[in-house]
Amino acid sequence: MAKCVKCGSETQLYVNDSPICVTCDSGKAKAAVASTNLEQARAKWKAAQQEFEIAEAVYVDLAGDNPDGSRALKNANRLLAEAGAEYREALREFVTGKSPQR
Ligand SMILES: [Zn+2]
Repeated sequence: MAKCVKCGSETQLYVNDSPICVTCDSGKAKAAVASTNLEQARAKWKAAQQEFEIAEAVYVDLAGDNPDGSRALKNANRLLAEAGAEYREALREFVTGKSPQR
């Protein structure tokens, strides 16, 4: 029986002509998912940051207590906070390999 290239345990599974055990292979799959999640969360967070900057710029232009401006700013602020939290979770998942607890 072949030995897993990662951990050395016996395996019959081959991926790309390399012997790999089910545990290591599923770990790899999980890491790929976490990496995709991280990319998406980062993109979302960046988009939210841009939204926030635009809302802030508009709010500053409107100068003062324009209700639409302050509502837009609050909304953008909330989206940014949400996207930031999601990004942190995805980052933690990526680094630790653990799914976030919800
Ligand atoms: Zn293994």
